[in-house]
Amino acid sequence: MSNMTAQPSVTSTREVILQTESLTKRYGDFVALDNLNLQVRRGEVFGYIGPNGSGKTTTFRILCGLLEPSGGRAVIGGKEVTGSKDLIKQMVGYLPDNFGVYPSLRAWEYLDFFAAAYRIPVKERPDRIEKCLAIANCTQFRDKLMGELSRGMKQRVGIAKTLLHDPQVLILDEPAATIDPRARIQIRQLLRELADMGKAVLVSSHILPELGDVCDTVGILKEGKLVACGPVQEIMRSIRQKRLMEIRALAGGDRVVSVLKDAPGEWEQVTEGQQEGKLRFEVQADEQQLAESLQLLLSRGITVAEFAEVPADLEDVFMSLTK
Ligand code: ADP
Repeated sequence: MSNMTAQPSVTSTREVILQTESLTKRYGDFVALDNLNLQVRRGEVFGYIGPNGSGKTTTFRILCGLLEPSGGRAVIGGKEVTGSKDLIKQMVGYLPDNFGVYPSLRAWEYLDFFAAAYRIPVKERPDRIEKCLAIANCTQFRDKLMGELSRGMKQRVGIAKTLLHDPQVLILDEPAATIDPRARIQIRQLLRELADMGKAVLVSSHILPELGDVCDTVGILKEGKLVACGPVQEIMRSIRQKRLMEIRALAGGDRVVSVLKDAPGEWEQVTEGQQEGKLRFEVQADEQQLAESLQLLLSRGITVAEFAEVPADLEDVFMSLTK
């Protein structure tokens, strides 16, 4: 029954490196971002999730100093973005959606071009480029033409590019959107590794399952408003009022439904998603009531082999929040 215990948030003690306070952006009369309050910590993968047009790119462009907010503020590493653009450029690595790739450059030439733009001294560049290729796991295509790389490979070289100046905050706009499932898994592993290096990794998606299992925290955006934000597990718990429980009995399974009528909480059988040999119930019960319900089943002679909560599906949460 270990999955019934709430996990403490491991990220809550780390330093907040990025935050926004009532951040607002209007395009004319249209409010694209509405009083956004976000916090992202070092070592954290933050999933910024929302349907197309919800304001993800607008947020990212403000955080990088490419767009002025209409109100509120964004602070990175203790400095307000608006007043310290050069410093923010050093702190932040940004990979836009559909970044340009210069097809006739080899991967290392492409990186060398950006290393020069970041004013990395000529002597240091080869080392730095090799290091970034290695971190992004793309050393093997350093001599390939950018135009010949698959989307997934390009994406990794793009990430290597954003790492050249060793930024503390990485902002990646829809990095997994157009690549195949295998490449997507590699990108997810890479995001985790970058966070484990102590960086804050902000990554957006309009499709939640792409990111659900790699993020420590998520912010769910709808029409410019943050409708939920926090550790993944906490969000799921707060949205789902009822627990979904799964029970498997070795003997007496046909009496489970009737016995649970006497148990604390309202046990209601659900057939959707139910696997053979297991029964599913929705119930409004705390841990104590669950323990009492299990005891009741046992005391009535039902041999319970499994009694476990089904973790909430982040996709359900996302759909219910953004519909
Ligand atoms: P997302 O990245 O979530 O798809 P965006 O931040 O790109 O969303 O856009 C949010 C909203 O702001 C959309 O409705 C979009 O049409 C609008 N928008 C974005 N840029 C501009 C602009 N330069 N002028 C007017 N409206 C814009």
